[in-house]
Amino acid sequence: MKKPISLRTKQVLKEHGLALKKSLGQNFLTDLNVLENIVDAAQLTDQSGVIEIGPGIGALTERLAQQAKKVVAVEIDQRLLPVLKRHFEEDANVTILHGDAMQVDFHQLITDQFADCDKVHVVANLPYYITTPILARLLEEKYPLHNIVIMIQKEVAERIVANPGKKDFGALSVLAQYYADVSWVTKVPSHVFVPQPKVDSAVIRLDIRQEPAVMVESEKRFFQIVRASFAQRRKTLSNALGSQVLQDRSKAEVNELLLEAGVEPSRRGETLTLEEFAKIADLSLRSKT
Ligand code: SAM
Repeated sequence: MKKPISLRTKQVLKEHGLALKKSLGQNFLTDLNVLENIVDAAQLTDQSGVIEIGPGIGALTERLAQQAKKVVAVEIDQRLLPVLKRHFEEDANVTILHGDAMQVDFHQLITDQFADCDKVHVVANLPYYITTPILARLLEEKYPLHNIVIMIQKEVAERIVANPGKKDFGALSVLAQYYADVSWVTKVPSHVFVPQPKVDSAVIRLDIRQEPAVMVESEKRFFQIVRASFAQRRKTLSNALGSQVLQDRSKAEVNELLLEAGVEPSRRGETLTLEEFAKIADLSLRSKT
């Protein structure tokens, strides 16, 4: 059996004369145990379709292809395409696409590529420079995904899984937890990457909810309230909302609305639950009495 490509990273890069680009978040994974943890977390079956974002030279792709029915990997760096195409030329269940994960039409991709799969997963060691926009896109676009397993910067992972009342709880936690049931998988030290990043990483899983965590009249308004509540973290909710989304109301009216939602106006955004944000958002759509 061929040695896994993750254990030949430096050699493969040298053979192809490739210098890695920091600007594209190219830190390649070289540890079989971590690869195993990521693939296990995705709970794949032989009927799973997997979208991988940023395959690099294919370390994770290789393991995913052993477990899933089909893997479609989207890589932005044209220079890596020949390496990937050659490595996977005999793997009928791996498709390599050249593209930008921020632009790819994933609805179309899922329809075209995964019609014969029962569940679709996203599994990726994400490029850190666009972790949040990619994750936001995957959640907000409501793709028919079963779960998302991503390796990201540890600090960002901590923010995503943080509960209300914790210092890390913020707009990103609410976004992720609104659309998904989030769980921590494992911490990953920086020395398992080539080149070694400055920060540690972590793997998390997001199990996409059939229905959002809370029902709201308008998602747009819900997220406006959430963003405004965290925009200036030292401000009380009353001041934060009064200076942004609810600026057409007097301070007394903002306070009244908050009290009607069962929220003390002096509280700060990080103490609120998703249900409380939802109540405020729905009440704020009612015309003033
Ligand atoms: N999956 C490989 C691994 O685990 O070793 C590489 C992971 S590396 C952290 C991130 C990869 O994402 C790089 O190969 C990089 O070129 C690619 N990438 C960066 N921006 C991208 C984008 N917008 N769309 C698709 N791929 C991207």
